Amino acid sequence: MFMEKAVELKSAEELATMRRAGAVVADILVLLSKTIVPGMTTGDIDRIAREELKKRGAKPAFLNYHGFPAVICLSVNHEVVHGIPSPKRVLKDGDILGVDFGCVIDRFYGDSAVTVPVGTVSPEAQRLIRVTRESLEKGIAAVKAGARIGDIGAAVSAHAEAAGYGVVREFVGHGIGRALHEEPPVPNYGKPGTGPRLKAGMTIAIEPMVNLGTAAVETLADGWTAVTKDRKLSAHFEHTVAVTETGAEVLTRPTGA
Ligand code: MG
Ligand code: MG
Repeated sequence: MFMEKAVELKSAEELATMRRAGAVVADILVLLSKTIVPGMTTGDIDRIAREELKKRGAKPAFLNYHGFPAVICLSVNHEVVHGIPSPKRVLKDGDILGVDFGCVIDRFYGDSAVTVPVGTVSPEAQRLIRVTRESLEKGIAAVKAGARIGDIGAAVSAHAEAAGYGVVREFVGHGIGRALHEEPPVPNYGKPGTGPRLKAGMTIAIEPMVNLGTAAVETLADGWTAVTKDRKLSAHFEHTVAVTETGAEVLTRPTGA
């Protein structure tokens, strides 16, 4: 029999700190989403994110994480996750951009991602973005004390696959709190009623990565950038949520959203 690895439950005070970290991440993601236009480089966006963190007294969560060289992951079109910002990467009208961002406040982490259209994007890209965002919300709706990790993945993948999309399996969501990645893993697939049981006070990041074509991905020679094998579009959305007795509290939800 396998022992389940320890999952840390957060106290009310710790959750209050995580709310602050989540709010900063949400706020900066909203600002970036409004700022992104054709002609900008992904390096420009990294620089803006650094400045905004500094203004808010928050630390970057991703910089130097296993050697990652930026404060934000920016993944263009067929790039799935972990794209490295570059002053040479110019965004074009019609691109879609995965913006994955985290911060640390008083030692606690927040982590969230959105996929944004750059200028005017195709109906095909719009639908992929919408369905991926909805898949995240389906996953969040499956969260409450007593439910299982498998319930989340089942809800996420059912929605994305019903639309004909491939759900990435190589990268998964995760516990989060005092570290960016904690126990348990939170896959975007699974069987209802299986996996670790959710408890009030658990904090997890749910993050579907959904491909227009097949689910297969590969990592580029830079050692970071994950791309779809068929080079078709991919979208990514993520929220950090706290499990409650009755559902989920989304810690990275923008105010007013
Ligand atoms: Mg993230
Ligand atoms: Mg994450």
